[in-house]
Amino acid sequence: MAVSADSFCPCGSKQKYKRCCRVYHLGAKPPTALATMKARYSAYAAGNFNFIAQTTHPESKQFSKNLALWKSEIETFCQNTEFNELKIIKFEDSSETAYVTFKAVLFQNLKDASLVERSRFKKLNDRWLYLDGQIGDSL
Ligand SMILES: [Zn+2]
Repeated sequence: MAVSADSFCPCGSKQKYKRCCRVYHLGAKPPTALATMKARYSAYAAGNFNFIAQTTHPESKQFSKNLALWKSEIETFCQNTEFNELKIIKFEDSSETAYVTFKAVLFQNLKDASLVERSRFKKLNDRWLYLDGQIGDSL
């Protein structure tokens, strides 16, 4: 599951991981909701729970105060999923709320588990955080 610094970034930027999402995983602030979204995808691909937790809005249903349980759920998901590709379909930006519509090409147990989601991001303390998303054909 580890992504090496010199491999291509999982987010599909065609940059090396060390020059792309890794800088955010190491603590730099993603400038936009779109950059946050890409870095979250890369964090899933890399099995980086801390970044997922740090970029989840406290009001999100996915946010849990039980960090140990949340961590094990995310890590299990990451271990059982291949993150093949991220395609950004649409980015709707504004000052406090932004939406990123994407397709994540995923495989679980060799089966296609890809999904399309319109994720909602909200700013908190000048950082873009994932709030929730609409999944699937309703988009
Ligand atoms: Zn990246």
